[in-house]
Amino acid sequence: MATPMLLYGRKHQTGLNWITAIAMTGFHVGAVAALFYMDAGAMLAAFILYYAGGMLGIGMGYHRLLTHRGYKTPKWVEYFLTFCGTLALEGGPIFWVATHRIHHQKSDREGDPHSPREGTWWAHMGWIIKGQGLHHDAEVLARYVPDLARDPFHVWLSTWHWTSNVIVGLVLLAQVRADRHNQSDLLRPRALTACGQQRHRLPPRLSTKLVRDKEATYVVKRRGEQHQHDEQRINPTVEHIAH
Ligand SMILES: [Zn+2]
Repeated sequence: MATPMLLYGRKHQTGLNWITAIAMTGFHVGAVAALFYMDAGAMLAAFILYYAGGMLGIGMGYHRLLTHRGYKTPKWVEYFLTFCGTLALEGGPIFWVATHRIHHQKSDREGDPHSPREGTWWAHMGWIIKGQGLHHDAEVLARYVPDLARDPFHVWLSTWHWTSNVIVGLVLLAQVRADRHNQSDLLRPRALTACGQQRHRLPPRLSTKLVRDKEATYVVKRRGEQHQHDEQRINPTVEHIAH
């Protein structure tokens, strides 16, 4: 069976690609929301991921190494850089490399997937969110990337490219939750912190009850002290009888 000809360019790509459009809207909203949750750890994570995904992954991996074969590396370095490329949310290696080779083959001519001659908006992101032309199977794209299509790792990663983002997201979420937990312990009085440490060694239901009881005892004790202090202030002759 003949491999279907891939048709790229604005006139071949009509209709919104909903999955891509929703994903892109989601992470732009998330980027604005992130401004309100900024701290040193978040900045560091953003910088590391920007460097790993954009520079190592797309710049060195997908583009210079896989598409243009501009330099050689041991296989494990190639696989590591390719894995980094998946973190940039630009799809798997077979899809990206095939699209980019077609772009160079037909630069600014009919069939260029993202020529600026078809409009600034189109070249910026219209070509990504319109139509299904960029979502062909690895099999269809294989004629443009025979070197990658022969490699089981690249074929596998092209199908499962999104999993790296899910894993990194879950790791970051776990870290944020652990940080919050530690911070809330630091804010508690020392007695309750000790109690919090005890809680980790007990079954969840029992430990929750223990914390609640200790907190209640603490509050009652503080109220008693406050009450006694107030009475002494009003009538200094009242004996100090507590404890
Ligand atoms: Zn290029």
